[in-house]
Amino acid sequence: MLKFCQKCGTILLPKKKSGKVKWYCKKCNKYYEPKPKEKVNLSTKLESKKEIIVIDKTELKGELPVTKILCPNCGNEEAYWWMQQTRSADEPPTIFYQCTKCGYRWRVYS
Ligand SMILES: [Zn+2]
Ligand SMILES: [Zn+2]
Repeated sequence: MLKFCQKCGTILLPKKKSGKVKWYCKKCNKYYEPKPKEKVNLSTKLESKKEIIVIDKTELKGELPVTKILCPNCGNEEAYWWMQQTRSADEPPTIFYQCTKCGYRWRVYS
């Protein structure tokens, strides 16, 4: 199960705080207590088989998967992509692309 921040919809990451592992929202800098029966540890990651990468603008490096897609800005045919939960957890995540050439960013709602 993916966990999403109740405030901003960002995917939560397991993070240690005062000896306990909690769910952490990078965007809000907020920790969520796991449910009593829920086991969370630092290796608890996104259990989905699809690879989901959540990043902030500042973290974008050349480490993202690249796909063949036409850049609407410059016509380049390759872009980095990642998924992000933008609204509520009930909605499908948005796919973001960033052109490998000009850095133009756009999103696709699935
Ligand atoms: Zn948040
Ligand atoms: Zn481009």
